[in-house]
Amino acid sequence: MPVPPVDLAAQNAALQDELDAAWQRVLRSGRYVLGAEVEAFEAAAATFLEAPAALGVSSGTDALLIALMAADIGPGDEVLVPDFTFFATGGSVARVGATPVFVDVCPVCFNMDARDAATKVTPRTRALIAVHLYGQAARLDPLADLAVAHRLTLIEDCAQAFGARYKGERVGSRGDFGAFSFYPTKTLAGFGDAGLLTVRDEEMRARCQALRNHGQTGVYEHALIGGNFRLDALQAALLNVKLPHVAAWNSARQRRAERYEEKLGALPGVHRTSESECACRPLSGDDHDGDAPRLRLPCAYAHNEHVWGSYTIRVAHGRRDALRQHLADQAIIAPVYYPLPLSAQPCFRDVAASGANNVVSRQLAQEVLSLPLFPEMTDAQQDAVVSAIATWLDAS
Ligand SMILES: *Cc1c(COP(=O)(O)O)cnc(C)c1O
Repeated sequence: MPVPPVDLAAQNAALQDELDAAWQRVLRSGRYVLGAEVEAFEAAAATFLEAPAALGVSSGTDALLIALMAADIGPGDEVLVPDFTFFATGGSVARVGATPVFVDVCPVCFNMDARDAATKVTPRTRALIAVHLYGQAARLDPLADLAVAHRLTLIEDCAQAFGARYKGERVGSRGDFGAFSFYPTKTLAGFGDAGLLTVRDEEMRARCQALRNHGQTGVYEHALIGGNFRLDALQAALLNVKLPHVAAWNSARQRRAERYEEKLGALPGVHRTSESECACRPLSGDDHDGDAPRLRLPCAYAHNEHVWGSYTIRVAHGRRDALRQHLADQAIIAPVYYPLPLSAQPCFRDVAASGANNVVSRQLAQEVLSLPLFPEMTDAQQDAVVSAIATWLDAS
């Protein structure tokens, strides 16, 4: 049975009438960039995210860029980023002329290791970007403590974690900024590129609002140099139709993740990871030993509400690509997020030294595989994934 990585056509078909009405309303309004539709979405999103303010922007990448620009980060400054994340986290730092410093991650929650971050702070460090990878919050307490101790701007990259919680708080509300993405593969999936920036401080919010529109502070008066980071009215109107459903979609994702844990966890050679293994320390050397688990399942920490942007397993013994191919042969699409740590990207050659000892990031890049998981997934689809994995474990 073919299993896609997401099924947006199914998701949107269920909302067809409301989406059509929103599209017609915007079409007839004659107003296509920013305006009332964007403001309505910003207000609804800020309420959902329990954030003081939210600005609709052109993408998650641009949300990161505005945060860095608003914090006045540029040449000569260093910004701590996890080595294992989507490119935009580090790319946006380089785009403002600052230097990304690559911090290793935890092998269990996949997020920034606060202890490694502490060793990489220098007098030039100005900011820290905490990514909530795959929909699970990073450990914000130690990261926020580090930011306070060294007067760093704390930016949360929430692109994969819309609606996730850390110790009861929504992600994006602890940091100075929270950057969200509505790229169609994210948990609140837009209809093209779109993003959102949450901002804690009121003065900063005004600054970000200006930066979003070329730094414009009056009619064709520019106090700052910003960019075109505006959100379209159509995106906002369509996203506003979907927003009330996110909580139910996230619950459906959580149920699918629990079902994977139950079904895959029962197979031989599969390790059910526990939170107590999170020590933010290098991976155990047992991975090359014949008795070591062949697959490791992801784990949601009890203090987090994980929204399962991806259900990412680890495949040991250099066998990840073989399992991926085995699944693809049955039309089950399992992406690799991500095959290279940032410090191994060719474009970061000149700044890669900070990541030279990031052994966890390197190992994860070779082991991770994201299994299909989306709210509309059926039991039959999920069972097809599980049985394909069972067959592979039997045969290999
Ligand atoms: C998707 C993503 C981004 C970028 O968002 P876009 O809307 O695609 O620009 C940034 N960081 C992470 C971790 C992401 O997954």
